[in-house]
Amino acid sequence: MNPSLELTDVTLVHPDGDGTVTALDEVTLRVDPGELVVVTGPSGSGKSSLLAVAGLLQRPGSGAVRIDGTDTAALSPRERATVRRERIGFVFQQSNLVPSLDAVDQLLLAAHLAGHRPARQRERAAALLAQVGLGPASRRRPHQLSGGQRQRVAIARALMNSPQLLLVDEPTSALDAQRSVAVAELLAEVTREHGVATVLVTHDEHLVRYADRHLAMTDGRLGELAALA
Ligand code: ADP
Ligand code: MG
Repeated sequence: MNPSLELTDVTLVHPDGDGTVTALDEVTLRVDPGELVVVTGPSGSGKSSLLAVAGLLQRPGSGAVRIDGTDTAALSPRERATVRRERIGFVFQQSNLVPSLDAVDQLLLAAHLAGHRPARQRERAAALLAQVGLGPASRRRPHQLSGGQRQRVAIARALMNSPQLLLVDEPTSALDAQRSVAVAELLAEVTREHGVATVLVTHDEHLVRYADRHLAMTDGRLGELAALA
């Protein structure tokens, strides 16, 4: 079985005033289906850059990004967009829900944008919302939901098109400690049940207890905790 995500010696350098800043420094990472990898690191250490490259939002300066065994370097922008839409789910710090849509319709919109026909999607949306604990609230719009509930909808939406890879950036920074841990627990559960490969990046050390693997990011370098200490 191919790893869902494989980064090999990935480097990403941004221009910064007169100089440059190395956001990712020879990063190598492999994530298998059903595995939850949690990456912690301080602000500015390169966590969002890691997800931008893994999610094909940004091309690395050097190194390889493989999704399910496919080297993405040769893909056209259109092909990259297709891989993003069909194989990758994103969850960000802000849930980025559409204000006018209820939870069910948030998920149906995601399916529609990926070109899925509506027939079976309503059932799938209801099942996913039930799984994330939104069942009774699934006809509510974002302003009628708590912050934690909105992130649960965002997680369900990210899973709607059955991605192989789930990329999650600081999903709990607007939540209290108890709700943060519940979101991490949910991510661990959906990772297992959907067989998706999940990368969760966060500065919140409390979330690591649900990780299959915990890596740390320091100044663009990714490593095992012991190796970086
Ligand atoms: P984190 O998510 O861990 O806070 P980021 O990946 O956002 O870290 O940023 C890593 C480094 O790259 C930081 O020094 C940041 O300032 C820099 N950086 C990120 N994006 C850009 C950009 N578009 N242009 C210039 N520098 C950037
Ligand atoms: Mg960030």
